[in-house]
Amino acid sequence: MQQIKRNVLLNPGPATTTDSVKMAQIVPDICPREKEFASLMDDMRKDLVRIVHGDLDKYTAVLFCGSGTINMDICLNSLLPEGKKVLVINNGAYSARAVEICEYYGLPFINLKFPVDEQPRLDIIEQVLKENPDIELVYTTHNETGTGILNPIREIGALVHQYDAVFAVDTTSTYAMRPINIEQDNIDFCMASAQKGLMAMTGLSFIVGNIELIKKSASYPKRSYYCNLYLQYHFFETTGEMHFTPPVQTIYAARQAIKEYFEEGEQAKWERHTQVCDAIHKGIEKLGFQEVIRRELQAGLVVSVKYPDDENWDFEKVHDYCYEHGFTIYPGKIAGQDTFRLCALGAITAKDIEQFFEVLEEALRVNHIVVNVK
Ligand SMILES: *Cc1c(COP(=O)(O)O)cnc(C)c1O
Repeated sequence: MQQIKRNVLLNPGPATTTDSVKMAQIVPDICPREKEFASLMDDMRKDLVRIVHGDLDKYTAVLFCGSGTINMDICLNSLLPEGKKVLVINNGAYSARAVEICEYYGLPFINLKFPVDEQPRLDIIEQVLKENPDIELVYTTHNETGTGILNPIREIGALVHQYDAVFAVDTTSTYAMRPINIEQDNIDFCMASAQKGLMAMTGLSFIVGNIELIKKSASYPKRSYYCNLYLQYHFFETTGEMHFTPPVQTIYAARQAIKEYFEEGEQAKWERHTQVCDAIHKGIEKLGFQEVIRRELQAGLVVSVKYPDDENWDFEKVHDYCYEHGFTIYPGKIAGQDTFRLCALGAITAKDIEQFFEVLEEALRVNHIVVNVK
């Protein structure tokens, strides 16, 4: 196998991949309308349900060609019947994106905002559900990737079901990392894309959801031609294919990544991510940086770090130094606050993080940056 330079990506996806996943893209040319390719996608759809421990009689996975945002778009535009409302529980940049999607489609919605460094309050959610019986779809984010806060989806989902609504959760930055049980976590629809927890390539996204609810949505308004959940589901069920051209080589890589996911094992993989995240916390503390989100609220995958209070601090310069040494760090996504992010996604280990902090320390030194401990 040809040597491929290994970069350690500490950005919130795409993630560092194994060489075997990279190489799995090199396959003989194939038309994706061949039965062989349909069978590959059929197996993949089942595996994607198994990853969240879904019963295959009750849940299915629908694949799409696009980045993770396509899932958000599809869930919101496809799962709302006429005359009903969406409730977006919004404590961060990704739920704010869901609000924008509702605005663009002209969907009736409630934007229930909470502070970005706090978990949503269940009593307030319940109050809103009680006062608005026309809420049909409740949407939130599992791990708000902008901050790294973990939302209590199981508890929110229980309330949603108590008020007879449908619960869609953006699990893009937890799926195949933090263990999820779709049924026990009260999720009707969750979603992810191949380049995050699965540690595969960009361009393939998928929604795992309740089959009955997908079938029910056949009669809901069709608000998009390309991005409709029922239409794509129906096409898969009747032909075994994606309605339009799938990302062929990306799907081969995802197949290899899923194989490696099951080989590593859910628990072992989560432990590895946890060790990586612990190493991030340790390095941050040692250098004197401060985190944005209280430890006990973090999902254990994304760490938001405040800029140090030093006039020499220059994120771009630090980024570039780290990048030249094989490590990618990423800007923050919190309005009004200067932060950067270090993420524990991907095929990386605690040892990579230790090496990263040596490079970061060097980057601070060459740029004469002092991290003040407050
Ligand atoms: C990465 C991510 C997405 C999708 O982002 P894309 O840039 O479209 O891949 C959506 N939601 C969450 C929570 C994410 O972390």
